[in-house]
Amino acid sequence: YKKAPSTLRDAINRGREHGDKIAVAYEDERYSFDQFFEGADRLAQHLLSKHGVKKGDRVAIAMRNYPEWMMSFVGILSIGAIVVPLNSWGRGEELSYAISDSGANLVICDQERLDHLRDRLEGLNCKAIVVRSDDTEGEQVEPWSLSQQQSPCNYDDIDISPGDLAIVMYTSGTTGKPKGAASTHFAVSQALYNMDYMAAMSAMCNMPTVEKMMGSGFEPCTLLAVPLFHVSGCYAVFLSNLIGGRKTAIMYKWNAEQALEIIERERITIFTGVPTMNLALLDSPKFDETDTSSLFSLGIGGTAGPPHLKDAIYSRLPHAYPGTGYGMTETNAVGSSAQGAAYRLRSGSAGTISPIVDIKTVDENGQDLPRGSTGEIYVKSPTNVQQYWNLPEATAETFIDGWVATGDVGYVDEDNFLYVVDRIKDMVIRGGENVYPIEVEGILLSHPAVLEATVFGVPHETLGEEVVASVYLNDSNTTAEELRKFLSEHLAAFKVPAHIQISCDELPKNATGKVLKKSVKEHYLENLDATEQA
Ligand code: ATP
Ligand code: MG
Repeated sequence: YKKAPSTLRDAINRGREHGDKIAVAYEDERYSFDQFFEGADRLAQHLLSKHGVKKGDRVAIAMRNYPEWMMSFVGILSIGAIVVPLNSWGRGEELSYAISDSGANLVICDQERLDHLRDRLEGLNCKAIVVRSDDTEGEQVEPWSLSQQQSPCNYDDIDISPGDLAIVMYTSGTTGKPKGAASTHFAVSQALYNMDYMAAMSAMCNMPTVEKMMGSGFEPCTLLAVPLFHVSGCYAVFLSNLIGGRKTAIMYKWNAEQALEIIERERITIFTGVPTMNLALLDSPKFDETDTSSLFSLGIGGTAGPPHLKDAIYSRLPHAYPGTGYGMTETNAVGSSAQGAAYRLRSGSAGTISPIVDIKTVDENGQDLPRGSTGEIYVKSPTNVQQYWNLPEATAETFIDGWVATGDVGYVDEDNFLYVVDRIKDMVIRGGENVYPIEVEGILLSHPAVLEATVFGVPHETLGEEVVASVYLNDSNTTAEELRKFLSEHLAAFKVPAHIQISCDELPKNATGKVLKKSVKEHYLENLDATEQA
């Protein structure tokens, strides 16, 4: 096995070997690996010669999933600048916060993001390069397209060291304001190496499936259904495919029915997403009429999956091997993973700990706990981020002696399987008893009428906290009382929510697809206040 390159640029350059194989498919556009790198190199040259971008400069990307997003990423990195992927779901305020936080003077964006940003660019002292548009309105704006003739960049004289910063990647913002995790070239290159290694191991463990896939003539092809601006889309799909020579089929925005169309058309073999995306795909009315025979690998991550997801997968896609994992922006997505048999036999676990990672649990005083004890998960890994951009306090709280204090609760069993119980912040203490919302959500989601569920604690006079749930249903007949009864059959009484609020709309989610529990809770408490006052 080849040695891992120590810079991300060297790791990415391995993708150049794949020549005229297809790297990226977007609608009816196709880019071979050669064409992809040519686009990236031309953009790099443009950044150098036209904008004087220097090593260490931050350059932001603010666009939806487009081929140019990926080319921009590679172009920026190649010349030693730092990539700042912005949340393209954000509007003016959020986009400008991250631009100003990261100190980027240049943003590569699409038309919609430009419209949100245009009036703010001057104040931010930031220029915009807009793709897929010839909009030139405003002094700070300049269009760029792949057809623009430009000699490809030769960056041989730009040295990059393993310790140089490569990316400021913002966390998903599930628990609060997103934090910019600043990663070195070394950390990300190790993360990609680890992903590649784990993929090879999983292929070995699932040989019958892999052989069948190859025998059926399917070329590996991943559906990119998650955003590129988080670790899951950027590393686990885009970069790992670019280096591994696999095709990536881009979805502009997640939609289960459209995903099924692409799966059939592009003969997708690998799908990854949060549990609700996997469920939406399998439960879609279009599922039965879609040819999903190419789909062999299902990746589930980002948050815990409900127990019945496993049954749904094995009953609807019996030929597939599902997998799951645990990771976070601060570890560059590395942690633990389980595929195929390991997923089937140890459901509920987030898989075995990667060989390059150390995981321990600690008590509330930061003291190490023995194996098997539940506590806060700490991760030590060569892939770890070492700091949040511009946040010294949060940096000191999270990055402790080479460990990342994850804020998650869990334990490691005797076979090195990690179990993630919940986030510390989400845990509810009701009358002295710990309630982990993930467990209650899992049961709620197994009820046939429940499409989405989130469980949280609200203040209570005598108990300290009370358990409450908010659900989104697929029928209007099911009542909160029925759901409570259903929960009582599976859970101890103290875990059953005192109130179940039935939401008329889908629950609010962030761009990764995780439910924004904090805003559901705030909304619930506001309504409660309003009712009490009335
Ligand atoms: P923020 O840190 O901004 O609040 P976030 O933590 O959701 O957002 P990410 O870094 O994208 O941002 O997500 C990492 C988190 O996702 C982990 O800390 C953990 O809470 C959760 N997570 C990831 N994988 C799993 C899993 N397999 N099971 C349970 N939770 C998981
Ligand atoms: Mg987090």
